[in-house]
Amino acid sequence: HLPIIYVITPTYKRLTQIPELTRLGNTLRNVPAVHWVVVEEGNQTLEEVRHLLMKIDIQFTYLSATRYKHVPNTLKGIHQRNKAIFWLRNNIDISKDGVVYFADDDNTYDLEIFTEMRYTKKISVWPVGFVSKKKYQTPILENGKVVKFDAWNTKHRQFPIDMAGFALNTKTFYLNDDLYFRRTFQKGYQESSFLEICCTLNDLEPKANGCTKVLVWHTKTKDPLVYRPSYYDTESDTE
Ligand code: UDP
Ligand code: MN
Repeated sequence: HLPIIYVITPTYKRLTQIPELTRLGNTLRNVPAVHWVVVEEGNQTLEEVRHLLMKIDIQFTYLSATRYKHVPNTLKGIHQRNKAIFWLRNNIDISKDGVVYFADDDNTYDLEIFTEMRYTKKISVWPVGFVSKKKYQTPILENGKVVKFDAWNTKHRQFPIDMAGFALNTKTFYLNDDLYFRRTFQKGYQESSFLEICCTLNDLEPKANGCTKVLVWHTKTKDPLVYRPSYYDTESDTE
């Protein structure tokens, strides 16, 4: 049977939250052996999100996590991703094969990317479309091994890879007790600093036809032009 893919998604309440999760959920409902770990920002989960997750009808776990004090909000989602990592450590056998993928709620995922990551041994990597000012950023291969990257800030980052551009075997968490997102990570260095804890360049398993196919895009959703005072309030929308 297939190793389960644990898809970890930080999310937060805003006008486009339900549409984003609907889109990602519709992607994941087409993926076999998937378990969606959705982590709400704040001290509570939301009824409308739980309702959606139940409707999507895949395996899911819905948690919440509050922001760390004195950590700039530019480190988006780290408390939520950590909550999910700790949940995995406590609830599944991470010494067995499984896959962990950090999937933000607003990206666009080709179903093939889940096939590509399924048999990750330690860490697999692939290109990601529309990261910073690049059409895509990607690992560069020589003789089938990753030797460098075409990406933003390759100078100072050991692993200039987007959150959507890698997946880990759950065993990688088993073998690295302290693999989680530190509060001290710098803006723009979240992925690189995280991967430095557990990996070397030599560990990277290139996927997506030798990193020649873009199967995931770092898309961003434009805020709808909804009249602000009634932002979350459909009831008062009477005029
Ligand atoms: N996110 C969050 N709280 C925030 C901002 C973002 O939980 O205050 C989540 C968001 O839902 C997404 C992830 O963190 O799943 C990355 O955020 P975003 O897509 O805004 O980051 P960007 O694409 O700009 O790097
Ligand atoms: Mn995003």
